[in-house]
Amino acid sequence: MNAEIIAVGSELLLGQIANTNAQFLSEKLAELGINVYFHTVVGDNAGRLEQAVRVAQARAELIIFTGGLGPTKDDLTKETIARLLGRELVIDEEALRSIEAYFARTNRTMTENNKKQALVLQGSTILKNEHGMAPGMAITLNSITYMLLPGPPKEMQPMFLKYGRPFLMEQLGHHERIESRVLRFFGIGESQLETDIEDLIDQQSNPTIAPLAGDGEVALRLTAKHHSEIEAKKLLDKTEQAILERVGRYFYGYNDETLFKKTVKMLKEKKKTIAAAESLTGGLFLTELTAIPGASQVVRGGVVCYANEVKEKVLHVPASVLTTDGAVSERCAQLLAENVRTLCHADIGISFTGVAGPDPLEGKPVGTVYIGISTPENGTEVYALALPGQRDAIRIRTAKYGCSIILKKLAAAYEG
Ligand code: ATP
Ligand code: MG
Repeated sequence: MNAEIIAVGSELLLGQIANTNAQFLSEKLAELGINVYFHTVVGDNAGRLEQAVRVAQARAELIIFTGGLGPTKDDLTKETIARLLGRELVIDEEALRSIEAYFARTNRTMTENNKKQALVLQGSTILKNEHGMAPGMAITLNSITYMLLPGPPKEMQPMFLKYGRPFLMEQLGHHERIESRVLRFFGIGESQLETDIEDLIDQQSNPTIAPLAGDGEVALRLTAKHHSEIEAKKLLDKTEQAILERVGRYFYGYNDETLFKKTVKMLKEKKKTIAAAESLTGGLFLTELTAIPGASQVVRGGVVCYANEVKEKVLHVPASVLTTDGAVSERCAQLLAENVRTLCHADIGISFTGVAGPDPLEGKPVGTVYIGISTPENGTEVYALALPGQRDAIRIRTAKYGCSIILKKLAAAYEG
């Protein structure tokens, strides 16, 4: 099945918002094995929307619209499609009651134009809106399925997941199960990963293997189809095993796992606490860790030691080290990690110092990074890295590297 997504909204064309609806839907459709061949964006204009629909009708079997289901004059998606399909718009009593209830609940008077939101294409399947007022709808006519979804992502996403997706699965006669699994890697580049498993990618059709990249990380999405869920999972297991035999040492987690989540989880599991001295990362590392529920059990605290004076006065890096080795040095990283650990009474101390750019520092090039890690059992080790990319990329990658180092330590040093 081939699909096209038509996002309706002048604000998209004016560059005021990004078309995240198309991105979300594309990802979900891919999981269903539906090919999305076109993304179209059109303004709130009936004539141009009509043109876009005609083009889509000639090349897609599924057309999903987002936006323009609201009460105002510029919301004209339903009206335009009704006209094109020669279908009436009729009041959906359930939707009308829920809109009235919404106004009653929020103590507001319902204006006449809000009734318009309860209008639906006659004969369509209603997709309930549990996070707003305008319902969505879906209808198949002349072998083309039309699905209309609201614009706001917080309404569109849950509506699609709860009602839109099951509708499509039924339409597709999807007795085949689609199971997918994301494998996450860190410390290996996208092209290296692809090269290492190139033959697997080329050979596979079930499961398919699709690489995804971003923020210094790579992931592989494996998607298997089978009428039995157990068999689909077995297919995934087999491919996963073949992949991990090659690149398993870079693997850190599945699906929505992040390095930060995994770090908190592992620290909890091993009952270890952590403190950080952050120069280069300026608090980024602890911001990410403390964003995770339960971080309080493992995060002791830390110091943002951006200025040399703070490294010296708060974390007791001798002035001589700062002048001879420099702030960006192995020796400085080592002392920062050790001293923040003792200062905060943590089991593990970690430090980040380096050059984020845009200019070199102390004669060291952009991307020079030292990460120190200190434990009472194993002393202090320093990792010297030369990271590619610009300021933001270097900072986030450094924080992620910190996680991967901690994870390795936790796996090795506290085994059993
Ligand atoms: P409403 O009832 O809120 O008017 P609607 O279905 O009429 O909803 P629009 O008026 O087209 O939808 O858009 C409402 C808001 O939803 C936009 O201002 C924007 O914030 C968001 N939105 C719309 N389309 C998209 C899109 N393609 N990607 C991301 N956000 C979008
Ligand atoms: Mg609107």
